[in-house]
Amino acid sequence: MSRHYDKLIFELSSEGKTGYRLPASGIEDEGPYGIPEKLLRTEAPLLPQVSEPEAVRHYTRLSRENYGLDGGMYPLGSCTMKYNPKFNEDAAAMPAFSGLHPYLPEAAAQGALRIMYELDRMLSEITGMAKFSLQPAAGAQGELAGLMIFKAWHESRGEGRRRRIIVPDSSHGTNPASAAEAGFEVVQIASAKDGTVDKAALGAALNEDVAGLMLTNPNTLGLFERDILRIAEMVHGAGGLLYYDGANMNAIMGVARPGDMGFDVIHLNMHKTFSTPHGGGGPGAGPLGVREDLIRFLPRPTVAKRGDVYGLDFGGAESIGRLKSFYGNFGVLLKAWCYIKMLGAEGLKEASQNAVLNANYIKESLKGLYKLPYDRPCMHEFVFDGLASGAPGVKTLDVAKRLIDLGFHPPTVYFPLIVENALMIEPTETESLADLDAFIAAMERIAREATAAPELLKEAPQSAPVRRVDELRAAKSPVLKWTEDEE
Ligand SMILES: *Cc1c(COP(=O)(O)O)cnc(C)c1O
Repeated sequence: MSRHYDKLIFELSSEGKTGYRLPASGIEDEGPYGIPEKLLRTEAPLLPQVSEPEAVRHYTRLSRENYGLDGGMYPLGSCTMKYNPKFNEDAAAMPAFSGLHPYLPEAAAQGALRIMYELDRMLSEITGMAKFSLQPAAGAQGELAGLMIFKAWHESRGEGRRRRIIVPDSSHGTNPASAAEAGFEVVQIASAKDGTVDKAALGAALNEDVAGLMLTNPNTLGLFERDILRIAEMVHGAGGLLYYDGANMNAIMGVARPGDMGFDVIHLNMHKTFSTPHGGGGPGAGPLGVREDLIRFLPRPTVAKRGDVYGLDFGGAESIGRLKSFYGNFGVLLKAWCYIKMLGAEGLKEASQNAVLNANYIKESLKGLYKLPYDRPCMHEFVFDGLASGAPGVKTLDVAKRLIDLGFHPPTVYFPLIVENALMIEPTETESLADLDAFIAAMERIAREATAAPELLKEAPQSAPVRRVDELRAAKSPVLKWTEDEE
């Protein structure tokens, strides 16, 4: 049943209503202002004609139809959907930054260059790498650039034949995709029973054609690879490099460093760990860090400090080149700089510790009701394998949809692929104990309903503006604009 205010804006439209008033232009009507005749409209565009309150209510209603972090908890595993302080948004919106023209001479952009330089230094310190390029716009672009560096490094050593990249079967989809995009052959290895890298399988896959291994630690099951030093030794011993997918950095900030674990190249997701909202396709950043002897391959430009002056460094002939116009998504980098400065070393460490504590709290509270395939302390996230009771016909998807009715965004489902009925939960550090308890209560209620009233799960969500979406059809033939004949 549609309510009055759910009406589409075209249904509210009627001839002659307006929601704006423009001042007189002060320009005599001089006709088409030099626009060629053939480009001029012959008919007015079909736009809704509504009053100001109608337009405001329309957009406000739309903004509420999407669940967001400003409305509640968003425990979407692997995505680190934490609350981002609004102060950082204000800082990035300051006209002194947002109005900077990318063609300004370096002397007039010293503040912005300093922010970038300091962010590079701080990220290097947090991860144990030697230097970062801030260019990549996302994690996946960082991965692509990192693998291009793998290739350039091997070629520089006369080992261009190394064309294979190893990934575990628990890896995020972007890892094999980036490797293929960079021209490598992807070799997948099965995980061991405990969910970590199977060292026998790794040993068998390593040979003189292998360029390297891509890993995230903690891995996508939320488990820390305890044998990471041994794994690094194996890969390096076979002449390969180690890539760190830093999307899971929220678990270990200030506690452990990928550089110390033996990783050679790493990306970080500013839009997960470092205070940029994630999702909705907004701008992100995936800075790429490397160990000392790989700096010469970094995408250009990086930022250097000469004396007291900051400047762009366009690198030498060995750089893999440019990845992005200008200097990366500066506003996102600025928010990361503010976030790190505000929290400081102790604050970052505490954020990770609380993220890990919160995940373990939920896991331990619910593990009797939901199947826990890897029962050991987790890091910032963990994976259930559906309901423990095995209520007949009730699927992971039903549990997720029912959560929407109870006011929560569902966790990630059916990923990682190695857990059949995966419910991947990442609460993050920004939820209070009361929020965590409310989420646990909702999950307990769903587990009871699964046997007592399974239709509630099967028919969920009842409260959302759209019910179950045909995701395939939505992706293959999206309807992106209003048409009159739509029901
Ligand atoms: C999000 C994520 C990525 C990809 O990052 P994007 O910025 O979305 O490209 C890679 N690996 C893991 C584990 C992730 O969670």
